[in-house]
Amino acid sequence: MKCSDGTLYTGITSSLERRISEHNRGIGSRYTYTRRPVKYLYSERQPDRSCATRREREIKKLSPKRKMDIVCGRKVVIKPRKEKEVKKPYGKFVTAVNCMDGRVQQPVINFLKGKYGADYVDMITAPGPNRILGAGKNKRKKTAIRKCVEISVKKHGSELVAVFGHYDCAGNPAGEKLQRRHLKSALKTIRSWKLGAVLKAFWIDRNWQVRE
Ligand SMILES: [Zn+2]
Repeated sequence: MKCSDGTLYTGITSSLERRISEHNRGIGSRYTYTRRPVKYLYSERQPDRSCATRREREIKKLSPKRKMDIVCGRKVVIKPRKEKEVKKPYGKFVTAVNCMDGRVQQPVINFLKGKYGADYVDMITAPGPNRILGAGKNKRKKTAIRKCVEISVKKHGSELVAVFGHYDCAGNPAGEKLQRRHLKSALKTIRSWKLGAVLKAFWIDRNWQVRE
């Protein structure tokens, strides 16, 4: 549509007539409210709502000149955005979701290198991550961990995600029994992220030994 100030407006609707009338009655959008009357220029039919949304986004990115090219039936070539190639770094990565506690960093790295032949351990730390993922209600904290795990799996090609709980944890002061239960449900949470990696949970005891 062309607005009264000469700018172009792009939108989607299931009823063109109704939508134009809404815009002209000032209930269409904030943008057109102050730019009335609007004039119909051009429309395209799309098979469904998601196609329509995609096409709308595509058109909205164009310059006014190119938008007018479409209106006038001139050919507008829209280049698809090139996917950036992600090169996987060399070496075997595994992922640890570990506490930020300084006492459990080296034990976890040594354990994962020894048991799983990892060259590198992507260490994702939070205070008591087994509680955050297994019993916590804070969605933001979970999402923060999830984003890191996803980078490790997708960009580094990690095929193992291991969650740890430990003795004398300030972030998760529960005893071993309850913490092990947190570990179990933390695995459930991570499984729901559908990463395709092997998931494991471990307990680090009072001698800083990693146990199954
Ligand atoms: Zn801790």
